Amino acid sequence: MQRIALVTGASSGIGRATAGLLAQQGFYVFAMARREERLEQIRSDNIEPLPLDVTDIAAVNAAVAHVIATKGRIDVLVNNAGYGQLGTLECVSVEAAHRQFEVNVFGYAHFIQAVLPHMREQRSGCIVNVSSVLGKISLPGFGWYAASKHAVEALSESLRGEVKALGIDVVVIAPGLIKTEFAEKEFALLETVQHPPVYRKILDGLRRLLAGEPQAPGPEIIANAILKAVTRSIPPVRHALPWDSKAAVISRWLLGARLFAWAVRKQMRI
Ligand code: NDP
Repeated sequence: MQRIALVTGASSGIGRATAGLLAQQGFYVFAMARREERLEQIRSDNIEPLPLDVTDIAAVNAAVAHVIATKGRIDVLVNNAGYGQLGTLECVSVEAAHRQFEVNVFGYAHFIQAVLPHMREQRSGCIVNVSSVLGKISLPGFGWYAASKHAVEALSESLRGEVKALGIDVVVIAPGLIKTEFAEKEFALLETVQHPPVYRKILDGLRRLLAGEPQAPGPEIIANAILKAVTRSIPPVRHALPWDSKAAVISRWLLGARLFAWAVRKQMRI
């Protein structure tokens, strides 16, 4: 029986690589994002585009109803659609912060609530929530994004306990810096935030941190981790990769809050 997967944020980066890899491995993939023309580029026998905005509950419910009507089941949900609202806490507007949570947190919740009744009925399923290294630590200038990913981690941990006995697994994938469209969009959003000159060093520090993106690994490394997670009989609870994602969390734990904050300021030169 062909396994059925839903992948959000499939028009670029990690989601696109994951949709392609799952399809190549025999899954039937419903690929979702807002940019329809981008989704059409990956349409194949095993990939069906479903253009939608994850903040639109009616569209999410309609998409899941379509999946059930045509395929009758949902084996895997990959919650991945997201973006990073950069900027200091003082200067990012509350409206922009709300939008960050609408997409990165409530967007995931909309899909979880829509697929769970079907996974419960099947008594099987795997929900993969793509978090971030910033799901466990936070950095200056990344506050709202890190808060949204911390929320994803907390919700995933609760959900795991709630659905384990129902035969459903919950996996968190926590990428470090990955080469996708993500950093470019973060910079564009940062430009929309008005910062007084006192924050210049922080903005320069942010740019320095993200300057490593062109050398970062491509999204295939995360797609591979997701494939492994959803095909293992005992999936991992949380998989942080590449090494910098693991190392950051271990350093925070080893150094403690004060020393870690000092090391971050040193690295960002702020
Ligand atoms: P990309 O910007 O390349 O991809 C983001 C995807 O999310 C796009 O397909 C975009 O599609 C989709 N998306 C954004 N907003 C919405 C929306 N409202 N409704 C539907 N789809 C939406 O970035 P990545 O592939 O890097 O990001 C994927 C995930 O990985 C995100 O959750 C991100 O936080 C996480 N991550 C990324 C890291 C990195 O360094 N790249 C590091 C750590 C975590 P469209 O615009 O067409 O709607």
